[in-house]
Amino acid sequence: MAELQIKDLHARTSEAEILKGVDVTVRSGEVHAIMGPNGSGKSTLSHVLMGRPGYSITQGEITLDGKDLTGLQTWERAQLGLFLALQYPVEIEGVPVTSIFETSELASKEGYRETLQDAKNEAELLGVPSDHLSRGVNLDMSGGEKKRLETLQLVTLKPSIAVLDELDSGLDVDGLRIVSNRVERLTKENGLGVLVITHYSRLLEELKPDHVHVFVEGKIVASGDSQLAEELESDGYEKWTPSTETSVTLGGLI
Ligand code: ADP
Ligand code: MG
Repeated sequence: MAELQIKDLHARTSEAEILKGVDVTVRSGEVHAIMGPNGSGKSTLSHVLMGRPGYSITQGEITLDGKDLTGLQTWERAQLGLFLALQYPVEIEGVPVTSIFETSELASKEGYRETLQDAKNEAELLGVPSDHLSRGVNLDMSGGEKKRLETLQLVTLKPSIAVLDELDSGLDVDGLRIVSNRVERLTKENGLGVLVITHYSRLLEELKPDHVHVFVEGKIVASGDSQLAEELESDGYEKWTPSTETSVTLGGLI
């Protein structure tokens, strides 16, 4: 049973505080969806969880299975079972996906040959052309192809908790269905815990969320079930943004 605990997390860049008290706990097999307006700090949350340089945690904690992640290197967090699918996957010339598998902790446990065979089978299932495995990671790939490749890494590396930052952006309808279905299967068969950031309930049709959180101005302001995702998609975030609250109050006064 894996458990990612985020408690009262505050984080900032040198210029401004971006995360202002995030609280969420993701356990094995659970899917938590985070939905919120542009610029609210969703990607920052994913970066801070994975230990990207440039952010400092000023308050709160992040633990995975009781171990404090703050202060650990990104690779150490990955080794403990945390995975991040980036909103904007980076292109890494000269490093093929196969060498990521080769050097992963998993490769040393199960053997590279098995991992690679697994990856090839999965690639076919996810619609990743086989030459993409030997090309530099994400190099010259379309947005959707990159997202399929991110998913291939997720499936092959077998983390216990995955953070998926807009995995749906750039994917075509078939890709979206294949990817969300595959991740849902991981939650059922491998007990993967998922924190998925998205704008669209379409992704959540197959990857069924147990909890949906509204994320505004650096923190979770409301939580609910899958119904909330549909409401957000049709009504937007206006109801949850502080400026609207003010105008409602003013309207009441006038
Ligand atoms: P979201 O993913 O919710 O759209 P982000 O987390 O990408 O939002 O960004 C939240 C805010 O923090 C934005 O205003 C963005 O410009 C700012 N921000 C994020 N990372 C940095 C950084 N490294 N340096 C400066 N500003 C940043
Ligand atoms: Mg983002």
